[in-house]
Amino acid sequence: MSSCIFCKIAAGELPGEIIYEDEHSVAFMDIMPVTKGHVLLIPKTHRENIYEMTADEASHLFAAAPKIANALKETFEPAGMNLVQNNGAAAGQAVFHFHLHFVPRYDETDGYRPTWDQKTDEFPSERIQQLAADIRQQLA
Ligand code: AMP
Ligand code: ZN
Repeated sequence: MSSCIFCKIAAGELPGEIIYEDEHSVAFMDIMPVTKGHVLLIPKTHRENIYEMTADEASHLFAAAPKIANALKETFEPAGMNLVQNNGAAAGQAVFHFHLHFVPRYDETDGYRPTWDQKTDEFPSERIQQLAADIRQQLA
């Protein structure tokens, strides 16, 4: 898409610190990293979010993920790594070209805060079973 900054980085029309490229995917350094080695992996084809991706496109993209994760692991020796992917503004998506974040983790003070409430009162097992049935029906 002509106005998309990530399409432009993939096409070499905007500067990007590219660390990996293959036929389908490009990975480059996040310009505002949360931790040392924060990288984004994108499909070369413009897809706004996970909902727009075909299974083949998703397969091609994720095929590169272990290679990138291992390169970050070997280079920076982090204590852990989060893979994060936001869909929609409500989920924190700011750039509307699908991207998978690789966030090497060093310790609990490294600035990344993946916390959420565990709502066991609101979601007892019967409710979870009903929700699962609803999803299965949609997938059938
Ligand atoms: P998200 O909130 O999941 O949409 O994340 C968007 C990410 O893109 C943020 O972490 C930004 O720092 C990053 N970002 C935005 N513009 C650029 C750019 N030109 N080059 C590299 N990373 C970028
Ligand atoms: Zn794009």
